[in-house]
Amino acid sequence: MFRVGLGHDTHRLVPGDGLVIGGITIHHDRRAQGHSDADVLLHAITDALLGAAALGDIGELFPDDDPANRGRDSAEMLRAAHERVIAAGWRLVNLDCVIFAQRPKILPHRPAIRRRIAAVLGIDESAVWLKAKTGEGVGPIGTEEAIAAECVVLVEK
Ligand SMILES: [Zn+2]
Repeated sequence: MFRVGLGHDTHRLVPGDGLVIGGITIHHDRRAQGHSDADVLLHAITDALLGAAALGDIGELFPDDDPANRGRDSAEMLRAAHERVIAAGWRLVNLDCVIFAQRPKILPHRPAIRRRIAAVLGIDESAVWLKAKTGEGVGPIGTEEAIAAECVVLVEK
């Protein structure tokens, strides 16, 4: 049996000193605002995984009004969600993601991001893919007010 899951996340960008994307920190003049480390990509992946297994969503598992989640490492949240999915009998087959960001350029960081995600999930790097799109200079993405990410996953039992 196969299931697919879809995840989407958006974070506001504010002046700062680096973006956490896919578990790595990219040098940048802005940072993503959020209760945890605001890793937009890992949040989208976490929601996609939970959705595929019908196990809730990231906001239910890790409420942002819980002080325990302040500044929390999103890789740890993803790992916890993946463990729930595995406990329910599912195996992650692959995931495919899109980052929406006007700046910085994401593709030079793709190998490191794929490596990191594969390590967090304990899967082969070939099962993790990532694309990047700008906002073409318009809208909240294009004017660098926000960064967003989407992810689809396939799981099997
Ligand atoms: Zn988020």
